Amino acid sequence: MSKTFRVFATCDIGPSIDLLRKRGYDVEVYPQPEAPPKSLIIQKVKSGIDGLITTLRDPIDAEVFEAGKGSLKVVAQIAVGFDNINRADANRYQIPFTNTAEVLTEATAEFAFFMLGALARRMWTAEHLTRENQWGYWHPYLPFLGNEVTGKTIAIIGTGRIGLAMIKKCAGFDMNILCYDPAYQNKEFVTAIQDTMDLRVARGISKEKNWIKYVPLNDALAQADFVSVHVPLIREGESSTPTYHLFNEQSLRKMKSSAFLVNTSRGPVVDENALAKALREKWIAGAALDVYEKEPLPANSPLRDPAIEDRCRLLPHFASAAEITRLSNDPNKGMAGRCVQGLIDVLEGNYEGDVTKMPYVVNKEAFV
Ligand code: NAD
Repeated sequence: MSKTFRVFATCDIGPSIDLLRKRGYDVEVYPQPEAPPKSLIIQKVKSGIDGLITTLRDPIDAEVFEAGKGSLKVVAQIAVGFDNINRADANRYQIPFTNTAEVLTEATAEFAFFMLGALARRMWTAEHLTRENQWGYWHPYLPFLGNEVTGKTIAIIGTGRIGLAMIKKCAGFDMNILCYDPAYQNKEFVTAIQDTMDLRVARGISKEKNWIKYVPLNDALAQADFVSVHVPLIREGESSTPTYHLFNEQSLRKMKSSAFLVNTSRGPVVDENALAKALREKWIAGAALDVYEKEPLPANSPLRDPAIEDRCRLLPHFASAAEITRLSNDPNKGMAGRCVQGLIDVLEGNYEGDVTKMPYVVNKEAFV
């Protein structure tokens, strides 16, 4: 490598930064845990960096690409979601951007499942009871009961990578599964899951026969005991299947009053005012959220209403926050490793410099 590549990382992504330095890269890392102001990102890009490492907190659009005209060669995002990056602008400026799909799939799905279990079995409320010394007796139904997960019906909204991983986990809990995805139906996967469900009964592992099928959204909402959301944030006009406020007053009212909503996708997929109302007025039984319309969750969010506290779990965008998933240098295991490899591929011209062949580049269409 003859040229020294200059890279600015908007946050510390761990030991993978050393990997770049060992290759001779000049890497500057924004030292604060909070996101840098956009003006600083623009200033760094303007200074002539070759690569920019970003998180979902950084708005990357025409202003940034304009500042990097003639010098910026790649934006490497440490996340699978890239709704903070304006794809049309990146394409206009011919800047490839990469993401870290797949390596966080299982971690995110298992977290969604744990959130679902914690919500249904009221683990947060139950632990408070113990810690606050309010646990006075064992009783068949006092002070409250939770709801079983095993044997129930779940709707998986979005059957991409994480949705399919969630299906695997739910099948292990003998759940029936309703799938909804207007853009991608993996019928082969669904058939394989049905086969394993049938095998579990045939071999005496499960007592009841479970089922899985694709259905329209309204059927999924009306029939499910749990609804788990695994879609990207797609705003109006960005595709024919936008997901912005997919969960609003109308759709929440279609759910059963005994049903629970779990969202580990992106905050704006759920209209939070509508959800808070749905919980207050008991249109649904509960919700567990990992992502919010505005992050961190504002102090005055309606979701913090003490009246809905025991039915509303609030997690701090934590679903992929597991050690190997976040930090491993191995691009097949860790987001950091994959992020750095995506950057290297573009800067060092791997795959004969053909961006369309680089596995972690998202906006390949701009280079065809
Ligand atoms: P993916 O692209 O593999 O799957 C998304 C699926 O959603 C696709 O199959 C797509 O067809 C489907 N979809 C699109 N519009 C839809 C609609 N209107 N209704 C239903 N389905 C629709 O993506 P993935 O790797 O499974 O990740 C999904 C999202 O999860 C990411 O975009 C990201 O925003 C979020 N995520 C969050 C965390 C977290 O920490 N909470 C971690 C990882 C991913």
